[in-house]
Amino acid sequence: MADPVEILRSTFGFAGFRGVQDQVVGRVMRGANTLAVMPTGAGKSLCYQVPSLALEGTCVVVSPLIALMHDQLRAAEAVGIRAATLTSVDENREETIQRFRAGQLDLLYVAPERASSEHFRNLLSQARLSLFAIDEAHCVSEWGHDFRPDYRLLRPLLDRFEDVPRLALTATADAHTRADICEQLGIPHEGMIVAGFDRPNIRYTIQPRENTTRQVMDVMADNPGPGIVYVQTRAGVEKLAEKLAETGRPVLAYHAGLDPQVRRRNQAAFVASEDMVIVATVAFGMGIDKPDVRFVAHAGLPKSIEGYYQETGRAGRDGDPAVAHLFWGADDFARARQRIGEVETGRQPGERARLTALGALVETAECRRRILLRHFGEEDTPEQCGNCDNCLSPPAAVDAGVVAQKFLSAVFRTGMMFGTGYIESVLLGQSSERSLMNGHEKLSVFGIVSGDEAALLKPVSRALLLRDALRTNAHGGLEFGPAAKAILKGETGLKLVLPPKRDRRGKRGAAGGA
Ligand code: ADP
Ligand code: ZN
Repeated sequence: MADPVEILRSTFGFAGFRGVQDQVVGRVMRGANTLAVMPTGAGKSLCYQVPSLALEGTCVVVSPLIALMHDQLRAAEAVGIRAATLTSVDENREETIQRFRAGQLDLLYVAPERASSEHFRNLLSQARLSLFAIDEAHCVSEWGHDFRPDYRLLRPLLDRFEDVPRLALTATADAHTRADICEQLGIPHEGMIVAGFDRPNIRYTIQPRENTTRQVMDVMADNPGPGIVYVQTRAGVEKLAEKLAETGRPVLAYHAGLDPQVRRRNQAAFVASEDMVIVATVAFGMGIDKPDVRFVAHAGLPKSIEGYYQETGRAGRDGDPAVAHLFWGADDFARARQRIGEVETGRQPGERARLTALGALVETAECRRRILLRHFGEEDTPEQCGNCDNCLSPPAAVDAGVVAQKFLSAVFRTGMMFGTGYIESVLLGQSSERSLMNGHEKLSVFGIVSGDEAALLKPVSRALLLRDALRTNAHGGLEFGPAAKAILKGETGLKLVLPPKRDRRGKRGAAGGA
């Protein structure tokens, strides 16, 4: 058995392990089952690559994406590791099997669906195994944000080779998902090693969406370096890319609908550029090595806090200051809820919890970093980071319970069929042909909102939609959601966080500053 540190130096050319790597490798070398939770870029691959060289036999790496597997294969081969992939697209499968049986492989990458094949199990029993490495291990959990049923097939396989240690790896798992991964893969609780998640050089800013194009352009103007803009849909990517190009900055689009060749070209151009902005769906970023990304902007709500952390984490890998801007709208939450309604019932609680956590992050008056880190299980964080929007200029918290009641009763009394704009005009007592025709000017809620309350109407309607107290029907009309009653009756209050006034550039004015 060779010395891991020696291998780290001689094969990889690194002076020492970083962060929790030595803890993880130490456990693996002792044959203990382990879950390593390490943020992207922390060096997860090394945690199984080094043992694969130090231990006798082959390390079987389970990985969910064939494209990613081939990237990893190239990287491993580049440092002289004897590695191969065994997937449906590989033409040299026979040769790989031969090498595996003959003990000539340090690493064998496979997709999870192989695990269920009897043929593959037999193959594994014909060779000497050093380790099972399960990459993207959150895929095994229904609580995880990327559940893949195939990962459930792994457990019987792992149990059949009980003497072979298991190392599960993930960059993204909340406490609940982590516990579930351990449970699903038979890893003891004390076998969990979590690396620090803080990215102190990233400045987080989260604002309601007003005019996406203008808001993103402002971010671009403030950040001349390379940047990524995430948009939820392919059509949205194309549209925003076109508009942003008008600024004169080099702008390219990236999504799964583009020709693979175009995609590769755009990605390569971005990696080489010093001022390019790439507008992309979340398909972009995995496996991309560009340390000098200066900003990441989200033009809409990410899927989860994990997703937000991972996507914003592509900024500032070089350690220099970088910014992350998220622009969200109440309609993002409505769409997400609709999507949750369409997934299997077993996965709905997890999806709902994820959306609630996102809601708390965007609406908070607290330090954003603290909320992010707590989400990843780091309880011991300072109350203020000094490098997020809420720390740099604390927002005002106001009690908007009464305005929320007024808003909801106006929705109710007008028959739950009108949109936000009309409800606002009724509450403000703005007479129109429509309100006259509808007889709404005689309602007790007509003109019930005045003065200071008027400014709260927009944020209140946003907050009610976010909390599922209001829903938008197919025609844009507002209806009550399940959370409406308690707010209307005053059983649940509504505390609102009002961002300080900003100038046109989206920067906060001095008035709101601390
Ligand atoms: P992850 O899979 O966690 O995102 P990688 O395994 O791709 O991270 O590693 C990220 C980068 O860090 C790679 O370029 C890798 O070579 C480098 N790296 C990993 N471990 C070390 C180390 N101990 N010392 C120096 N560089 C390292
Ligand atoms: Zn902060």
